Amino acid sequence: MPALASYDAVIVGGGHNGLVAAAYLARAGRSVLLLERRPHTGGAAVSTRPFPGVDARLSQFSYLVSLLPDKIVRDLRLDFAVRGRTVSSYTPTGDGGLLVGGARTEESFGALTGGDREYAAWREFYGVTGQVAQRVFPTLTEPLPTRDELRTRVGDEQAWRMLFEEPIGAAIEKRFTHDVVRGVVLTDALIGTFADAHDPSLVQNRCFLYHVIGGGTGDWDVPVGGMGALTDALAAAARDAGAEFALGHEVTRIDTDGERAEVAYRNRAGEGAVAARRVLVNASPQALAALLGEESPEPAEGAQLKVNMLLRRLPRLRDDSVAPEDAFSGTFHVSEGYGQLATAYREAAEGRLPSAPPSEIYCHSLTDPSILSPELAAQGCHTLTLFGLHTPARLFAEDNERTRAELLAATLTELDAYLAEPLADCLALDANGEPCIEAKTPLDLERELRLPGGHIFHRDLSWPYADGATGRWGVETAHANILLCGAGAVRGGGVSGVPGHNAAMAALGH
Ligand SMILES: Cc1cc2nc3c(=O)[nH]c(=O)nc-3n(C[C@H](O)[C@H](O)[C@H](O)COP(=O)(O)OP(=O)(O)OC[C@H]3O[C@@H](n4cnc5c(N)ncnc54)[C@H](O)[C@@H]3O)c2cc1C
Repeated sequence: MPALASYDAVIVGGGHNGLVAAAYLARAGRSVLLLERRPHTGGAAVSTRPFPGVDARLSQFSYLVSLLPDKIVRDLRLDFAVRGRTVSSYTPTGDGGLLVGGARTEESFGALTGGDREYAAWREFYGVTGQVAQRVFPTLTEPLPTRDELRTRVGDEQAWRMLFEEPIGAAIEKRFTHDVVRGVVLTDALIGTFADAHDPSLVQNRCFLYHVIGGGTGDWDVPVGGMGALTDALAAAARDAGAEFALGHEVTRIDTDGERAEVAYRNRAGEGAVAARRVLVNASPQALAALLGEESPEPAEGAQLKVNMLLRRLPRLRDDSVAPEDAFSGTFHVSEGYGQLATAYREAAEGRLPSAPPSEIYCHSLTDPSILSPELAAQGCHTLTLFGLHTPARLFAEDNERTRAELLAATLTELDAYLAEPLADCLALDANGEPCIEAKTPLDLERELRLPGGHIFHRDLSWPYADGATGRWGVETAHANILLCGAGAVRGGGVSGVPGHNAAMAALGH
């Protein structure tokens, strides 16, 4: 038997976190092999042209960036930039709506809520989360603090209680009175997380925290060139530093004695194996357990619908006080009032699709038209991304195709209620004359990306502090030479590169 090719580090999975880890390790002089089962890198952070014959490069899964530290962009000298949005969100209410971001925010709050109290509460609340963001965000790329250390760093007992100890629903109900305003705040706790505002597990608080601390501001920015531009920049950084990539290689087994590991894979040509001093696993914790032949951690379940569209033109709104260009350049909330979110959660928890599916929509090409061909841009075409909430994977188990179609129709009906013309009339057509629209359920994401149960963060988000079972960086496993370097690590989840960075730091002995 010939000796196996051997590397300092083998990385299982070429999602953006695997690429970050590969780039850091290769730049530190380590020999690195990255094995990815798909024919391309990026995982859930990719751009594609999903519509035949249409030259529009859409961020197919993840679409906005907040959690990626400047430090990673600088360290890896990434040729990648984000652009801020002029409007942060718009929530239609019929003939009116709430516009947040820019000079009209205060006026919009006043018109919706009939006074200045709600806007004052909004400013105060986000002043507090902004302070917490400034203090917590820099810790994500440091060794894990203990709970007490993080609490001291936050330095504000009231904020700590509100975010880390009491269900976020309590703070929302105490501070805000208007159902629409409450709903806009709550959505940050529910993206990628199936929970009620008062869930005692506080999983919704963890989700909220990760949505408001990014970059030390909580801003969600547009990746210029789409999410694929980030992945391309990361892949170039890793390759330039000497990392080798093996695409179309699915890892099937990992054996380790704690010092040396053997990683078996299969590709189109057959099966093979490599040896490694360390294995960094970008696949989910559930996949890692299966590869090691160990018992799987708790099952995960995603609960979102993702829809990608290309429009011939932006639809007109029923609320004619706001231009579609403003409404869609921020996050456009549909059926996400506080009461509506509670009802949707209850219905889904009882095993039904929500009767009024909540969703949020955003148009990338208004802020960054570079993802459209010059012809499409000149014709006034725009991309539209929709992220639906509260539709857990279990609802699709019986018949994914049928349930997907049913949910998509119900979701678009909810949106149409706020438009002056049906969205269907605005969809562009592909080369086959079909409307440019694709929808992905949690089961679709599980099949395509291996997200466990379609969970966009691989598993529920963790608090960003040590809980006793975690190691120095939050990426350690029961095996000394196997590290998690993906969303399922402590401080994983989202397009952040943080677990990739932290796994590389752990591997380099920092
Ligand atoms: C629809 C959707 C919308 C989202 N929106 C946003 C957003 O706007 N902003 C944001 O910050 N986050 C968003 N997220 C979450 C974010 O995209 C993910 O949390 C993040 O991309 C995870 O990155 P990762 O590198 O850790 O893992 P992944 O992207 O899951 O990559 C893991 C890689 O491992 C590969 N792999 C798995 N098993 C094997 C194996 N056995 N052998 C070889 N390779 C394997 C997979 O093919 C994949 O390429 C969204 C996610 C989804 C699905």
